Amino acid sequence: MSDAEGGWDYVIVGSGAGGGTLAARLAESGMRVFVLEAGGDHLQTADPRLPDDYSVPGFHAFACENPAMRWDFTVRHYSDDTQQKRDFKADPHTGGVLYPRAATLGGCTAHNAMIFMLAHDSDWNHIRALTGDGSWSARSMRRHARKLEACHHRPLWRILRHLGLDPTGHGWDGWLQTERPPKELEAEALGDEALLNMIAVTSVEFARRLKHPLARIAQWIHSAADPNARPWRAKDFEGLCYTPVSTCSRQRIGSRERLLDVAAKHGDRLHIELNALATRVLFDAEGAACGVEYLKGSRLYKAHCNASPAPGERREVHARREVILCGGAFNTPQLLMLSGIGPAAQLRRQGIAVRVDLPGVGRNLQDRYEVAVTYRMREPWKLLEGARFERGDPVWQRWHEHRDGLYSSNGAALAFVRRSSPNLPDPDIFCMALPTQFDGYYPGFSANLRKYNDRLTWALLKAHTHNSAGTVTLQSADPRDPPRIEFHYFEEGDDTQGHDLAAVVDTIQFIRELNRPLLECGLFAEECAPGPQARTAPALAEYVRNNAWGHHASCSCPIGLRANGGVVDSSFAVHGTRRLRIVDASVFPRIPGFFVVSAVYMIAEKAAETLLQEAKRAPP
Ligand SMILES: Cc1cc2nc3c(=O)[nH]c(=O)nc-3n(C[C@H](O)[C@H](O)[C@H](O)COP(=O)(O)OP(=O)(O)OC[C@H]3O[C@@H](n4cnc5c(N)ncnc54)[C@H](O)[C@@H]3O)c2cc1C
Repeated sequence: MSDAEGGWDYVIVGSGAGGGTLAARLAESGMRVFVLEAGGDHLQTADPRLPDDYSVPGFHAFACENPAMRWDFTVRHYSDDTQQKRDFKADPHTGGVLYPRAATLGGCTAHNAMIFMLAHDSDWNHIRALTGDGSWSARSMRRHARKLEACHHRPLWRILRHLGLDPTGHGWDGWLQTERPPKELEAEALGDEALLNMIAVTSVEFARRLKHPLARIAQWIHSAADPNARPWRAKDFEGLCYTPVSTCSRQRIGSRERLLDVAAKHGDRLHIELNALATRVLFDAEGAACGVEYLKGSRLYKAHCNASPAPGERREVHARREVILCGGAFNTPQLLMLSGIGPAAQLRRQGIAVRVDLPGVGRNLQDRYEVAVTYRMREPWKLLEGARFERGDPVWQRWHEHRDGLYSSNGAALAFVRRSSPNLPDPDIFCMALPTQFDGYYPGFSANLRKYNDRLTWALLKAHTHNSAGTVTLQSADPRDPPRIEFHYFEEGDDTQGHDLAAVVDTIQFIRELNRPLLECGLFAEECAPGPQARTAPALAEYVRNNAWGHHASCSCPIGLRANGGVVDSSFAVHGTRRLRIVDASVFPRIPGFFVVSAVYMIAEKAAETLLQEAKRAPP
């Protein structure tokens, strides 16, 4: 449908967790929505590997490296060259580190690890306090979580809720199914004695080392290790847990499926323009956003691993109501700046006319810190027997025929949540055990899955990081050039007290203690990383500085007052503009929870509600 045939109410840039969710809800509610997505629909390409890389939970690392949908950003953890080059993941010439993103229908929900863990109450209450807007309270935000989730991992409560009994706080009838990875990864069905030993020892050790172990165990039984349960006491989960994932019958789902479902039902109201790279927001004579200019063509963005030299065809699409940017934490600030909205001096340097001097655009970039503690097992994992991580192998057959076995899981065999310091208001550490070697993102990282069958990685994730010194700035005024992304880790950032580094070091020590009995009993042959040479806290800090990575980039266009560096207000509207909003991971003032995608889905549902209420009051 063209603009001429009635026009579009909303033009939305990006079909990821934010854009896809928002577009689907608006179209479902009667609005006419045009979605611009720079990538294609990967499942409709000729590459035979794609359907599996996308759908099979155990293949998510291959999805990250699948050439059909990957945008390879190059980022700097440090501006200091010497420090940056100590990271084995850094390119030896440029110092740049790979930061994977997916440019495809569904955005990063097409390649992420599918972990669906809710943010902490304090994350939402912080936004409420910052803005004075009560609709951001944790209590109010839970409504949006319930609206989107279809929980399938608490079967008893799924039935009992019909009797009005439901202490879990889950959503049951939403569009996003959540499941528990097969219990076999945690139990005897696969007959992996090593895994069983590890789980048993870890569980006992974990309970023993925590304060009030009985209380912890009681909580564990009570919430059945479900980290998203919000039982009678509104307390955030802590302890051993499983990792809920967004799968439907053990097959990935995300905003792609949501969009296609709504498009199938309301095709007249939802148009998804694939292979369309938005290049700037268009404004009318009164200065209100009225549309988007874009380039039609595939692989036009230079972060694409196989970028096209073709220039693309310049097109425009117009919105009667609003333009909403959902390009993610790197692309939304870039698009704003290309449209003349951002720090004036920077725009002028690139020869871009300043429409709104908004210094907060591209600042406040945040991420988690992640590191690996890796062991070599005495014997190869039994559960990896027959796993070649390819279509047709016996493990794949099991997934294909029974939706069962190793590939039905994203690989997290066991996980726990803890506080790095008892004084912290919220738990800040998530750790998961993976039966492979995983040490961050670099070209070819996914090959480790096939290479190692005798490794255990504890992947450690530090949440609620204190560093907000990351930046996204323009490298050029060419919309096809990716921006410059600098995180300024640790001492380079604004965590002046070193809380983040101390928390990660403390957790490595905790993991070591937890696993000591497994080394002593010979289940583990050796610790590969950080390795025996890194014994002291300073040595561990050095390991962390040189090896940490992140993959939940957020907060680069935060909610907040303009005078304090805010870019959008509490209703997602961009300061100093009209009819222009942002709904994606860039709007959080502080990076929420342990895993960010659930929070992005939630704010997209919230934004849809806001827009629909406003539309009721003001016809276009
Ligand atoms: C490897 C990896 C694993 C992850 N695993 C998890 C996990 O297990 N659990 C979790 O909670 N989070 C995870 N995340 C993070 C999470 O998936 C993302 O933070 C989330 O998807 C962000 O949502 P978004 O809407 O902001 O952006 P995205 O989902 O990235 O969507 C942005 C979309 O906008 C499109 N776009 C960008 N610019 C333009 C433009 N100019 N024109 C047109 N289209 C454009 C992109 O192509 C993309 O489709 C992971 C991230 C990565 C990278």
